Formats: sequence, C-alpha cells, structure tokens
Amino acid sequence: MTQAQPNRRAGDTPRSGAPEAAAFDAVVVGAGFAGLYMLHRLRGLGLSVRVFEAGEGVGGTWYWNRYPGARCDVESMQYSYSFSEELQQEWQWSERFSGQPEILRYANHVADRFDLRRDIRFETSVTATTWDEAAQHWIVETDRGDRITAPLCVMATGCLSAARMPGIPGLESFGGDTYHTGHWPHGGVDFTGRRVAVVGTGSSGIQSIPVIAEQAAHVTVFQRTPNFSIPARNKPMDEGYETLWKSDYRARRLKARTMRNGILYNLNDMSAMEASEAERRHEYETRWQGGGLAFMAAYSDLALNADSNRTAADFVRGKIRAIVRDAATAEALAPTTYPIGTKRICVDSDYYDTFNRDNVSLVDLRATPIEEVTPAGIMTADGTVHEVDSIVFATGFDAMTGALLKAGISGRAGVRLADKWEAGPRTYLGLMTAGFPNLFTITGPGSPSVLSNMMVSIEQHVDWIADCIARMRSRGVRTIEATQEAEDSWVEHVNEVAHRTLYPRAASWYMGANIPGKPRVFMPYIGGVGVYRESCDEIAAKGYEGFRFSGAAVANETSAAAE
Ligand SMILES: Cc1cc2nc3c(=O)[nH]c(=O)nc-3n(C[C@H](O)[C@H](O)[C@H](O)COP(=O)(O)OP(=O)(O)OC[C@H]3O[C@@H](n4cnc5c(N)ncnc54)[C@H](O)[C@@H]3O)c2cc1C
Repeated sequence: MTQAQPNRRAGDTPRSGAPEAAAFDAVVVGAGFAGLYMLHRLRGLGLSVRVFEAGEGVGGTWYWNRYPGARCDVESMQYSYSFSEELQQEWQWSERFSGQPEILRYANHVADRFDLRRDIRFETSVTATTWDEAAQHWIVETDRGDRITAPLCVMATGCLSAARMPGIPGLESFGGDTYHTGHWPHGGVDFTGRRVAVVGTGSSGIQSIPVIAEQAAHVTVFQRTPNFSIPARNKPMDEGYETLWKSDYRARRLKARTMRNGILYNLNDMSAMEASEAERRHEYETRWQGGGLAFMAAYSDLALNADSNRTAADFVRGKIRAIVRDAATAEALAPTTYPIGTKRICVDSDYYDTFNRDNVSLVDLRATPIEEVTPAGIMTADGTVHEVDSIVFATGFDAMTGALLKAGISGRAGVRLADKWEAGPRTYLGLMTAGFPNLFTITGPGSPSVLSNMMVSIEQHVDWIADCIARMRSRGVRTIEATQEAEDSWVEHVNEVAHRTLYPRAASWYMGANIPGKPRVFMPYIGGVGVYRESCDEIAAKGYEGFRFSGAAVANETSAAAE
C-alpha cells in the first residue's frame, strides 16, 4: 500500500499572466471517501474530472484527525466501501473498530487500486466556485491560482472537516504548544512528562483523553457539556466474524441500507415502556457489555419518547457513578441536561475509568468557565490558573455547512450560498439547492449524513448523482436544478420530522449550537436512511420530481431525464 504522494502538478493551468481556464466535464472538491468514490464513478461515465483536495493526501477525516485514539465508531466491516465486491473481499481489517492509521491506509489503498490519484490536485483549496450563466458552467478557483471550468460541480467537502477553534481571550499569549484534534501533526506528538489540557469532551476528546493520559504527566480535562459514552469493547478482528460477513457481504450491505442509520445491528422494535424494569436492565446491560452504538437500538423509541429515553440515560448515568470513584467527578461527568443520543453518542475505550487515574483531573466549565488563556495555562472564572505545557483543543467542527461555505460558492445572479443560507441551510434532499444549477452536495444538510453510517450515505449520494448525470448526458440535458417549491417543502419536512423526535432538545452541533452566531436549525434528515433512499429513488424514477432541467434536447421536460 502506498501512502499519499505530494501534489504532482501537471501544469494544466498557466501560472502567470491571465490564466486560460482549463475545461473539465466535472470538478469534485474533496478527496475523502466521498470525493474518491465520486471520481471513480464519474470516470466510469467517461467524464474528464479534476479533484481538488486541501490536504497532501487522500482520506479526508482520516487524513486530518490523527489524534491519539482516533478510530471509527461504526464497526469496520460496515464502515467501508461496498461498491466493489473484490475490494470488500480482499481488504482485511485488523480490529473490530479500526484506528485512524488503518482507515487512512485503506483510503490510500482504494486510491491506488482504482488509480485515482492522477486526477487529484493535492494541497489545493478551492476558494471560489462561481456559476457562469452565459457559459452554463462553474468557474472554480483555488488558492494556488488554478482557474478551471466545468458544467458539473460536486462538493465532497465533508460534514466534519472545518475544524473549530474557540475564541478564547489570550490564546496567542500561551507559552506552550497548542493542537486541534482535527489538524493533528503528521509526526504525532510526544506528551511524555508534559502537563496537558484537553478542552472539549465530544467524541474526539473522549477518544483521545485515555490515550494521552497514559503518556502525559498530567491531563486536565476542561468540560463544558458532558457526553454520554458507551464502551467500544474494541478487540482484534475475529476471523470467524470476518468470514461470516464476507460470505454474505452483498446481502448484508443491502440490508444495512434499509436500516434507520445504515448500520446493521440488532434493533429491538419494542418500546422501552413495554418492558419491565428488570427486562430493561437486562437489555441495557447486555448491550453495554456488547459495546458500541447498538446500545441505542435497545428500544425503538429512545429518540422519540422522553420517558423511554430516560430509562437508557439513567442506566448510563448509573454506570458512570459505578465506574468513577470520586463522587463529585462522577456527577460532573453524568449528562443531565439533554436526552441520551440527541448529541452524537460517543463510543470509547476506558474513558470514564481514566478519571480514576491520579494524573487526570476534571474542570467543570459549567461551574467555573474559562476566563482566558495565560502564558502559563488556562485561567478559570474562580481565578485558578491551571498550569499546562500543551493545550489540545477537541472542540469539533463547524459541522455540515462550514466547509461548503468556505468554498466561496455563488450561483445564479451572483447569489452567494452564504447569503442564501444565512438563516440555516436549505436544500432539496441534501443533494442540491435552488439557484445553484449542476452543483451537487454529497451528504449535504437535509440528508441523513451525520446521523448514519456515513459510508452508506456517501455511496448512496454518489450513486444517485452519477446516475443522474448519466441520464442527463444521454438525454442531452445541460443543467439540473432543484425547484424552489421542492426545496421549501423538503426543508419543511426535514424540520417537521426532526421536531417529532427528542433531538432538538439538545444544544448540539446537529443544531449548529457549537458555533456562536450559527442559526439553530436541525441540519441532518432524521427520517432514516432506508426511507430517505426510497424517496430519492422514487423521485428519480418519477423523472426527477422537484428538479428542473434545461438543455437543447429537453427544455422544460422534467420527465425527459428519466429512463
Ligand atoms: C474523528 C472522526 C471520527 C469519525 N468516525 C466516524 C464513524 O465511525 N462512522 C461514520 O459513519 N462517520 C464517522 N465520521 C464522519 C466522517 O467524516 C465520515 O465518515 C467520512 O469520513 C466523511 O467523508 P467525506 O469524504 O464526506 O468528508 P471528509 O472525509 O471530511 O473529506 C472532505 C475533504 O474535503 C477537503 N476539502 C474541504 N473543503 C475543501 C476546499 N474548499 N478545497 C479543497 N479541499 C477541501 C478536506 O480537506 C477533506 O479532505 C467521523 C468523523 C470524525 C471527525
């Protein structure tokens, strides 16, 4: 397996003078799992494609998030591509939940196996993406001075790729090192003998804290909101389990696509309220021992019914109190202000137990917020300066919209996507947004995306987009665009479904609540992966209902793009 090669620029764009824009059939922004598969599919249609990727290599999330303990929380047998039978048969995962290095090796293997690198320009960020009405194509510009045109543009920029640094006063005065988990140094960091602050207890904090604590002299965890976390029970891949999956991979993948979150696991279709106290205890205990996200599938209504949800939350709070010896620390770690699962549930290895170590302490920022960073450390509102040598920010991302808006997108009549989405993202199916013809978003807001096994959602979107483009080309259709009416009713549907659940009760990044000033809108579609896929397929089958086409052959005939 080859690691990513640095950018080899073929010089398709002149570097000086007025650049002549190179023309492609399609441009793809991002070379994570979404961009890689999109490139593969578009090439398969015979299109010329240029991919731009800000990083030096492929892998997206797994290229950037190299922090200690980074690993997937969907089992590796499922957190992987299904589009190639040969690929899924030949690749061997070494653990139940693979770590970041292995997932990155896999991304590189895919890039090599399908010869994808030659169309990717690495270390190149797209800074402007402008629709040219007269020419009916997108003009894409980069921080390296590239200027290319393409009628089709696919944003594979990632839901969790715009890392968020909190604006803490005095940060620049800090005398030690600072890190963000989403931009971890490639050579790793040696924390031996160091006093480390970890700010943030979302998934990245919860995964990294136990590993950093094994090395550092002391770890001080700064927690604003505690998160619920379920033990991963990670272990080396069981050969029998792998064989079982591989003997039946296709059927299992198909089944997973029908599940609510795209993960094949044992979903109990009973309400928690139908079970007795003893039955619930047994069910939760079994799933706690089994490890992983299947805990939340213990009952069918944990996301819907506050009483049912409380039974699961109480169980986990009980576990936290049983594991963490210091009662005050246990209380601070036990979430009480939102229903379990309404913030992304975490999956950990020894997280709660880590607080029993002598070299780990917790600062509850609800009681004593951070005041400022000083040269020596972090000062909290009670005047204490927590002296540290390094600060790790595990403060997450400007989720779902951050990277899209950074790509400087302007559609028809020069309307900026940032302006159109000022009050929150608006899309049709999370795939397109009205006024931005031929611009597709993979796992965009308004699709199941971050509420699902993202490999399933990525593959579904890529296939839908590629099939749509194939049909457009075979019919001579030049542009496709979501209608305003279809978008409005989809946005309404997304909201309505979200408000039938407990999710909007949490100030989560799903709601944009982690970014000061970001509109509070529930961004992903919670209707379920299976239901959503059916809608997308049905819409395509009905001649792409809710989309408008233009092109010599089929002007104003929406059904013309259907087979
Ligand atoms: C730590 C962590 C753990 C996760 N674990 C899981 C998991 O277990 N299961 C799961 O389903 N999901 C998980 N996710 C979500 C994960 O993001 C997706 O599973 C998946 O990797 C997303 O792939 P992607 O290609 O859509 O986006 P990304 O992997 O984010 O790739 C997007 C790429 O686009 C590039 N890019 C963005 N903007 C520009 C621009 N303007 N110009 C050029 N390049 C640009 C970025 O550099 C990035 O490389 C995790 C996320 C994180 C952060």
